[in-house]
Amino acid sequence: MAGSKFAYVKKFELPDALLPSTFLVFRLDGHSFHRFTDQHGFVKPNDLRALQLMDHAAKSLMEEYNDIGLAFGESDEYSFLLRKSTALYNRRQAKIVSTLTSLFTSCYVFHWPKYFPDVPLQYPPSFDGRIVLYPSQQEVRDYFAWRQADTHVNNLYNTAFWALVQQGGQTTTEAHAILRGTISKDKHEILFSRFGINYDKIDPRYRKGSIFVRVETPEEPVVKTDAETVQGLASEESHKKKKKRKIATQLELLHCDLIRDDFWDKYAHLLRD
Ligand code: ATP
Ligand code: ATP
Ligand code: MG
Ligand code: MG
Ligand code: MG
Ligand code: MG
Repeated sequence: MAGSKFAYVKKFELPDALLPSTFLVFRLDGHSFHRFTDQHGFVKPNDLRALQLMDHAAKSLMEEYNDIGLAFGESDEYSFLLRKSTALYNRRQAKIVSTLTSLFTSCYVFHWPKYFPDVPLQYPPSFDGRIVLYPSQQEVRDYFAWRQADTHVNNLYNTAFWALVQQGGQTTTEAHAILRGTISKDKHEILFSRFGINYDKIDPRYRKGSIFVRVETPEEPVVKTDAETVQGLASEESHKKKKKRKIATQLELLHCDLIRDDFWDKYAHLLRD
């Protein structure tokens, strides 16, 4: 209780406000999901149900926190971009990281049965979370490019690896040995010549990961009454209303390239303030 002789202990809590006017990237990652995916029989290399569950939890987070404009997910991880000027929880690091990680985790568990109706959870999964600050737009772009490049490298490897095991009858040790030292071109070649798989035709969800962008909902046209039009009355009242109204946004799920300029030209608003 405040005011007791014990209250001095509160002073040991140190402030942890994040630097102002810097982009916040919040990333979480499943804790020991190698084991978790084994124990819950995930389909290899990509369990669609699990990816859709991750997307669902990410969307819930963005619905709760308007300051998140962009998210990128692959495997057991998700990254979220918060506005440079966000004042969320007064930018207290531990408060943001712990609250967002906890909400994501509980959404993952809450919605589990919808995606895995026949697979009961064997134990409660958990996620780690961190925030990294980036001072400029270029670093934010490079951050997301880094994650998507990682998706590509991992997915190409995993696709080749599991084709060798599942279709080629190789042991996992043999598959690792075959792929050791190969470059991207070799893996494409193995997939095509041995298994008839054209890697570029694989679902973009697996090759590109999941991207959520927040976009403004197109405004409904304002219908003026005749009287308003004649008297020019519409203006002041509706102008006030417009200013007050929160801009409505919606979330779009994409599986496209976010490394090239096209993406950032189209969604330039994501990097503003
Ligand atoms: P850490 O706690 O350090 O993150 P980890 O075991 O979670 O350890 P990661 O590097 O995060 O290690 O790897 C995640 C693991 O989960 C990988 O083995 C990956 O193949 C697997 N995985 C995650 N999502 C899926 C999915 N949708 N389908 C199949 N496997 C998945
Ligand atoms: P913050 O997000 O800043 O923590 P908060 O609303 O959670 O905001 P707390 O100071 O953590 O604020 O207070 C927790 C609230 O929950 C108090 O109002 C407390 O009385 C109530 N509460 C917590 N546990 C119980 C319980 N077992 N029974 C009744 N009320 C509870
Ligand atoms: Mg890891
Ligand atoms: Mg992990
Ligand atoms: Mg991971
Ligand atoms: Mg509380």
